[in-house]
Amino acid sequence: MVKPVFLGKLVLHWCDKCDAPVLEEVCACGNKTRFVTITPPGDIRPAFPYDVERINQTAIRQFGKKLIGENEIVIYNKAPYDDRMEEIICGGKVIGTIRYEIDKPGWVLLLRLEGARRIFNSKSKIEDPDAEKNLKNWMMVFEKAIPFVADGSSVLVPGIMRTADGIENEDEVVAITPDFEVVAVGRAKMSSEEIRTAERGKAVKTRWAELPPGGSETATATSAVPAAATSAVPTAATSAVPVTVSADVRAVWEKAIAANRHVIDNFESDSIKFIQNAAGNMNKKLTCSYSGGKDSLVTLHLVSKAFGPESGNEQEYEIVFADTGLEFQETLDNVTEVVKIYGKPLRETSAGDAFWEGFKTHGPPSVDNRWCTQSCKLMPITTVIESNYADNGGCLTFIGQRQYESKARAKSHRIWKSPSVRGQIGAAPIQEWTAMHVWLYIFDKDLHYNPLYGKGFDRIGCWLCPAASLADFDNLRNTHPESMKMWDEKLIEAGREKGISNPEAWVKFGLWRYERLPPAMKKLADEKGIKYSKRQEVSRTES
Ligand code: SF4
Ligand SMILES: [Zn+2]
Repeated sequence: MVKPVFLGKLVLHWCDKCDAPVLEEVCACGNKTRFVTITPPGDIRPAFPYDVERINQTAIRQFGKKLIGENEIVIYNKAPYDDRMEEIICGGKVIGTIRYEIDKPGWVLLLRLEGARRIFNSKSKIEDPDAEKNLKNWMMVFEKAIPFVADGSSVLVPGIMRTADGIENEDEVVAITPDFEVVAVGRAKMSSEEIRTAERGKAVKTRWAELPPGGSETATATSAVPAAATSAVPTAATSAVPVTVSADVRAVWEKAIAANRHVIDNFESDSIKFIQNAAGNMNKKLTCSYSGGKDSLVTLHLVSKAFGPESGNEQEYEIVFADTGLEFQETLDNVTEVVKIYGKPLRETSAGDAFWEGFKTHGPPSVDNRWCTQSCKLMPITTVIESNYADNGGCLTFIGQRQYESKARAKSHRIWKSPSVRGQIGAAPIQEWTAMHVWLYIFDKDLHYNPLYGKGFDRIGCWLCPAASLADFDNLRNTHPESMKMWDEKLIEAGREKGISNPEAWVKFGLWRYERLPPAMKKLADEKGIKYSKRQEVSRTES
C-alpha cells in the first residue's frame, strides 16, 4: 500500500443545494457546504467526457451497466498507487476508484457501496426482469448471512444463494441481498464455477460493507466499514480539433462555476496582486513561461490581466517556450495558437534531436537515470533565458508551478532565484491552486486549452517520459498509435541489446522505465517470467 502524501489543504466540499463541488466551506449561494473526504494529496480535477466514457465502458465490462449518467459532474482525485489510480466523486461522494492494474495490464473499477447501489438496487429487477442475466459479477447472499457480510466478514460459500455466470477469481464483485440490495463490494477469491461445486471456502474478500439503507428485517443499519484498507513528434490518430472549452464540458460545469464564483474571483485577484507586487519589487524584464499545459495557460492569462490595459499597471512582457524535442504536435500547435491570442513576443528554442542523439549512446532513459533532463529540458530553457535576458539585467519569469504537484514543489518558495539558469528569478502565481481551481478558471474564462486534456491525458510533457504511468502509455497507443509503434520497436530493440529474456513483455509491462526495479515491478517481472540483466536488480526502496 502506497503511503498518502499531504501537499496542501484538502479543499473539496459539496453544496447539496446547488449539487455542485465548492472549494471552500461556504457556497456562492450562501449555503454551508459539506466536506468531502478524499485521499491526499487531493489535487482534484474535472473528469472529462473521455474519462467518463472510460468509467462507463469499464462498468459495462465488469458489471453490465453504466455507472455515470448523462451530464453528471464527475471529479477525479489522483491517489497514490503503483500506476494510475483515480477516485471517482459524484454527487459529493466517492463512488469508486478506477485504477490501472499493471499485471493485467488494464483498467479496473473498484466500486464503493454508493457506486454499487447505482447499478444494483431493488428497482433493477423491476425495471429489467432479466437483470440477473444482464448484470454481471454479483453474488446473492442468503438473508441469514447478510448481518455477517454487512459487518465486514468475507463472503463464504455456504452463505451464497446464487451468483452471476462467468465470475473469475480476482474479479471485482458485488454482494447483494435476494432483493438486489447491495451489502458489500470486494474481490472474488473463487470463480462462479468453483463456488457452484465447492461446499466451503472464502468466495469474496470484502472491501466495503454495510446493511442496505433502511436495514433489513433481521438487522439494524450500521455505518460503512472499510473491511480491508486496501523525430518523432507524435500526432493524434484522430484529428484534434483545437477547441477552447467545448460546449458539452461547459454545460456540465456551469453550475460548479456559479457555486465557486467567489473562490474563482478571490484566487484570481490574489494571484494578480502577487504578480504585480513581484514585478514592482524587481527591476527586471518580465516573462511568462508557456508550455502548452493547463497551469502555464492560467498563469499566462493572469499575467496578461495583471499587466493589461485595464490593470492600471500596463507593462510589456514576453512569452518563453522551451521545446524538449519530445512535445506532442497538439502542444506545439497550442503554443502557436495561444501566443497569437495573447499577442506578445515569443522567445523560443528547441532541443531538436538531442533526445535521439542521446538515445544512440544511452538507450532509453529510466526513472532512475533521466539522462535526457540535461539535454532536453535544462539546456533549452537555459539557452532561451540566458541568450535573451542574462546580460540585460536578467528576467522575472512567471511559472505555472503548483504545490499539489509534488513534494519538491510543495516545499518551494513562491519566488526563487533559479539555481541553474543565470539571471532568472522564478515566481509561482498559482502555487496554492489545485487542478480544480485551474480548470474552473479555464472554463470560466474560456481559455484555449490543449485538446489532449480531453483525450485522457492529465499531464502534457515529453510524450515518452519514463516517469509516465503504464496507463498513459496505454492511452498513447490509442491516441498516437504511429508514435507508440515506433517507440515500442525502439524499446524492444534496446531490450534485446540489454539481454532481456522477453523484450516484448519487458516493454508491454513498462519494465523498461526502471534501471533498478522497485519491488512491485520485480514481482511482476517474476510472475511474467521476464529475466533481466544484473543492472536491473530490485531497488531497496519502493519508488
Ligand atoms: S520530462 Fe521525462 S523525457 Fe522529458 S527530459 Fe525529463 S525525464 Fe526526459
Ligand atoms: Zn450552493
